Amino acid sequence: MQTTQKCWWCGSTKNLTGEHKIKKTHFDYFYNKSEYKELGLKLFKSREDGSIIIQGPKSDFIKFPKFLCNVCNGHKSKLFDDSYDMFFTYYFDNEIKILAEKTVDLCDIYQNQWEEKWILFKKYIVKHISCRLVEKGFKPTHNMINFLNGIDDLFDVKIVLTLKPYAEQLTLNFPPLSIGRLFTHENMIKNELEFSGWFTIKSLSVEYLVQKNINQKSISSNSLIKLNKTDYSSFSSVSITKENIINWQYILEDYQFGSDSMWFHYYMRNMKSV
Ligand SMILES: [Zn+2]
Repeated sequence: MQTTQKCWWCGSTKNLTGEHKIKKTHFDYFYNKSEYKELGLKLFKSREDGSIIIQGPKSDFIKFPKFLCNVCNGHKSKLFDDSYDMFFTYYFDNEIKILAEKTVDLCDIYQNQWEEKWILFKKYIVKHISCRLVEKGFKPTHNMINFLNGIDDLFDVKIVLTLKPYAEQLTLNFPPLSIGRLFTHENMIKNELEFSGWFTIKSLSVEYLVQKNINQKSISSNSLIKLNKTDYSSFSSVSITKENIINWQYILEDYQFGSDSMWFHYYMRNMKSV
């Protein structure tokens, strides 16, 4: 594992902290639901080298290594976090409608501040991507850092939101929180590395591509965002319940799209970890 001794954002070596891989508010949102508490479920992390029962949202197992200082991970990014949380609070409250209409109007979430808050939302995503890159031994681009610092528009990252109804289908009792594999592409022409990856919160995936100047489009003046939709018909007739989840466990674990992806699920309290 990468043992970075300084903050990848500002270079400070003091008070380094570990950012959550999936936002803690998501764990809180699901973990604290009384129905899950009553079922006696625990967070469960699956990964290449085994699975771990996680005791709760503060566990180090769901955090990146400590490579962000407490200033960058604190007040410098507080507004990013707030904007991200507003988006997902709205998403959870309106999930059925959004899945049907495949659009989100940022005005409904952020009202007349939608332009600046949407930039803050993207800054949260770029911060997450940067953590993912540094975790794997790479670095965010200068443009990504400049974007976080408010100096530049975002040029080097393309962010796409994709609805995944099959994930919703898979999650009647068990909302998935997952991070996909970080893919590395070698651009032979430009002699640069490019990256792609995703994370999924319930039925919504945040997918990204990191490539120099991929995002040259000027900022949209339209608050209506069209969402992509990816579905898998093999799940369409499936009902996963707490009674049959154990039969599905192996399929869910296989269903990871890559060796270093991570899924966080609620599983039965007494289920054995492997
Ligand atoms: Zn810092």
